[in-house]
Amino acid sequence: MTSTSELAQRYRAVFPSWLGPLHGEAPISIDHGDGGEVWDLEGNRYLDFFGGVLTTMIGHNQPDVTAAVQAQAAKVMHSSTLYLNEEMVALAEEIAAVSGIPDARVFFTASGSEANDTALLLATSYRQSNQVLAMRNSYHGRSFTTQAITSHSSWRSSSVSGLDVQFVQGGYRLRSPFRDLDDDAYTQACCDDLEQILDMTSAGNVACLIAEPIQGVGGFATPPDGFFGQMHKILEGRDILFISDEVQTGWGRTGEHFWGYQAHGVTPDMLTFAKGVGNGVGLAGVVARADVMDTIKATSFSTFGGNPLAAAAGRATLKYVLDNDLQGNALRMGERFRQRLDPLIADVPWIAEVRGRGLMVAIETVQNDSLHPDAAKAVALADGCKERGLLVGKGGLYGNVVRIAPMLNVSEAEIDEGVDVIAATVAAIG
Ligand code: PMP
Repeated sequence: MTSTSELAQRYRAVFPSWLGPLHGEAPISIDHGDGGEVWDLEGNRYLDFFGGVLTTMIGHNQPDVTAAVQAQAAKVMHSSTLYLNEEMVALAEEIAAVSGIPDARVFFTASGSEANDTALLLATSYRQSNQVLAMRNSYHGRSFTTQAITSHSSWRSSSVSGLDVQFVQGGYRLRSPFRDLDDDAYTQACCDDLEQILDMTSAGNVACLIAEPIQGVGGFATPPDGFFGQMHKILEGRDILFISDEVQTGWGRTGEHFWGYQAHGVTPDMLTFAKGVGNGVGLAGVVARADVMDTIKATSFSTFGGNPLAAAAGRATLKYVLDNDLQGNALRMGERFRQRLDPLIADVPWIAEVRGRGLMVAIETVQNDSLHPDAAKAVALADGCKERGLLVGKGGLYGNVVRIAPMLNVSEAEIDEGVDVIAATVAAIG
């Protein structure tokens, strides 16, 4: 039987140098999973608080999703949007209904990057402009276009682009020049900066602002509630579209809301989704107001977008999330997690901040009592948790943030187990 270390060698030999497994020197394999747990090839068990980057959202081998995928695989796996298919149309209707966007239209894609590419195509066509705003510390994908709106230099592989992009202050408060201001003053300072960017750098007629309500790869950086609502007032006055990238924040993960944008008192012109909605099956897309979606006149088509297999997984996942009020569970379990964890790590001098919402929690590591990033501590924390049987992720501008994102249906016992492991690892690091 193949061992994990053999697999690591084969991985390194066949994949690009810029692709790397977590836990660099001692990566783990995932052979199978059940609910919130996974097992490696050697049979070691881990509690999964990352879900392959927030993508296995309601548990591994979730019976409803597995049954829906198996039944659909036995019927037809792919048809494309050239043909009608009940699963594909029904999922689009269901997503339109929960999107909160009036007169919504849905376009399915195969990845979050392709969804954001599509949103940019729509916005730049609708507004007849290549000028785009994005937030500092953003990540929107690995495609050529979405790299141009990513402002996270360790994840940005090229600056070549046909877009004219300006980056706006505000998503990442801890390292903002305005960090010492209170919520309202912080928001106002960022809005003033936005107005100045528009006045000073734009050639009029900006197409859109694209933003993650909570920055995912950026380390679950969370602006004050209402932040994007205030920004939107400025955008609206200049007919600039607002795109909410909900790839990580969607489907109730933030607990208080179903979508991240809802913390801000604003309805976006478009939202993009991916990751969790297929519970691991590739499914992504864009929801837009009809007049924005229908702006393209040429025929367009995404071969894998909305294929019946992915649509069946998506329908089963969404139904389970709604029927079982997993947004409510995210709120309750997120609160339990923070209530238990925060006092245990409150006085640790190398933790600058614990932040996030619901079941999106981040720990930012720094050199003692400073804001100087300490990536080695984040590595030690993630690796130490793994050694103790808990999978968490990493991220952040300097690779100095540990990201924790349990399944939306995580149990109290699992939350408590996760907290115990994190607290023990923090204590061991010292
Ligand atoms: N937007 C956000 C907020 C993301 O976190 C990601 C993936 N990490 C993407 C877009 C890109 O999604 P994909 O990897 O499916 O292309």
